[in-house]
Amino acid sequence: MADLGNPKNTIAVLQKYQFHFQKKFGQNFLIDTHVLDKIIDAAEIGKDDFVLEIGPGIGTMTQYLCEHAREVAAVEIDKNLIPILETTLSAYDNVEIINCDILKMDIGALAQRKNDQKPIKVVANLPYYITTPIIMGLFESHVPIDKITVMVQKEVADRMQAGPGSKDYGALSLAVQYYARPKIAAYVPPNCFMPRPSVGSAVICLTRHKKPPVEVKDERLMFSIIRASFNQRRKTLANGLNNAPDIRFSKEQIQESILALGVPANIRGEVLTLEQFAELSNMLADPGREPE
Ligand code: SAM
Repeated sequence: MADLGNPKNTIAVLQKYQFHFQKKFGQNFLIDTHVLDKIIDAAEIGKDDFVLEIGPGIGTMTQYLCEHAREVAAVEIDKNLIPILETTLSAYDNVEIINCDILKMDIGALAQRKNDQKPIKVVANLPYYITTPIIMGLFESHVPIDKITVMVQKEVADRMQAGPGSKDYGALSLAVQYYARPKIAAYVPPNCFMPRPSVGSAVICLTRHKKPPVEVKDERLMFSIIRASFNQRRKTLANGLNNAPDIRFSKEQIQESILALGVPANIRGEVLTLEQFAELSNMLADPGREPE
């Protein structure tokens, strides 16, 4: 089958099937072979790997994945793309096309069936309207995953990789960095897609930590504290936590814990590291505890 990374071949397939792009599914198909090569390199896929691809579109990246991996499962929500995928991928016997919404799928069961509980790789040019729920869903589901390599909106990639003090640093940075080590592999301009998106894109690799870099007694509490700190970015950390409806500690408890961290009482949450958020939440979860 012709390489769909070549725009001429993509246009031929779209015309043959009279395919109409659906904006609601975030359909922007890749038409650049250099970008496809970069994604495959960044994902470090080998012949032993089982790869989950989210949103294969007409199968452009799927072809590359089938060439490099042991087996691929391609999960596509748009039923109109299924007959196209069956044709564009007909040369490969190591791919399963699944017509399903990734947000409703039992990925743990798929990993068990295809990879016997061994860590899987996820590769995707994601639909941008659901980037965060897909990535956080993958991490929080505790499916065995060793690396996620995804195309996302440039600003989202910058936020995932940002550290304390940067304007991009926020709840998403901390949530991603609790589970994985992020690294942007390439920035990708709109002309590499059909149709062209209105935003720039980036390929980011999220290599999952074997164990989280911090020990947290109560993950839910830590993430509530993080969200509260960034919801009210311009307020001090103490005020942000006092005003958050789902954080039920007294003003004094909050103040004492902040001081026990060894930081000024009027510090803003946006300068705290993941380690400090973990420490703060551990102290609040267990008020007698001294900072480590
Ligand atoms: N991988 C193809 C490429 O690179 O050319 C297509 C990428 S396009 C940005 C996103 C794809 O995800 C589309 O094919 C879209 O139909 C599919 N998609 C959107 N929402 C989805 C969902 N909830 N579950 C599975 N696939 C979805």
